Amino acid sequence: MVSALAALCVAGTVTAFAQEKIKATTTIGMVGDLVKQVGGDRVEVNSLMGPGVDPHLYKPTSSDAARLSRADVIFYSGLMLEGRMGDLFAKLARADKPVYPITESVPRSQLTEPKEFEGHYDPHIWFDVSMWAETVPTIIKGLSEIDPAGKATYEKNGAALMDRMAELDEWCKDTAAQLSEEQRILVTSHDAYNYFGRAYGFRVIGLQGVSTVSEAALADMSSLVDFIKKQKVKAIFVETSVNPAAIRRVSEDAGVKIGGELFSDAMGEPGEMKQGVDTGTYDGMVRYNMTTIVNALK
Ligand SMILES: [Zn+2]
Repeated sequence: MVSALAALCVAGTVTAFAQEKIKATTTIGMVGDLVKQVGGDRVEVNSLMGPGVDPHLYKPTSSDAARLSRADVIFYSGLMLEGRMGDLFAKLARADKPVYPITESVPRSQLTEPKEFEGHYDPHIWFDVSMWAETVPTIIKGLSEIDPAGKATYEKNGAALMDRMAELDEWCKDTAAQLSEEQRILVTSHDAYNYFGRAYGFRVIGLQGVSTVSEAALADMSSLVDFIKKQKVKAIFVETSVNPAAIRRVSEDAGVKIGGELFSDAMGEPGEMKQGVDTGTYDGMVRYNMTTIVNALK
């Protein structure tokens, strides 16, 4: 009887263990999306920042702190993107929680340091798809350390994801090539697209600088209006996670249309279909932005 009960307990434990998923908590949706794809069935992903949320200004709530401390592993973007969460991540790391800024595997030589950002790197690397793919090894490493039994799965999923991202990067280059070099001027609310510009050949002008913490200055607005008129820019763009007021004013003053609403620091709602793609995914968000930009500037 005792041995039967013991056997039952062991069997019960094994079953429960097999069904128990690794709990990963992430910040922005773009990090969560990659962790989901690398983790597959073994990992349950919980992203703190949903659609329309600005990570530069995001302050963790007490329920976020609880969700983070319950997580088995935490992935965030890093490079000061989540500027107000740094202390919390440091505290969790000191308490031996596995915490990974996924941009740590991107070579520093590829990063830029815009002068307005006071000696910090520009954190918006997800819009250069080939750079964002370089974060995948950190995710594979982080999941494998917490779940060594899943290592081969994470490596396989990660390699497949990097292949899909290489295809997406090619698609971005081909789509951008529909515009002439002079047509490739991207004017938006804040400087989230510098790496995008470098990768796909756009001149990028953001009204608010690299972080949304500072507001657009009036002088910047009038010089931007002059620039738009002089360059005969066909369209400028608002962003889903940034207040559109300043860009709307520039649009009126320069007599230029708003070419659409771009995703910058947050993805769309899960399953939100726009132009035939799901903007609640990283892949869909990238395709939607590129199509919107190219169609408006053509
Ligand atoms: Zn930003």
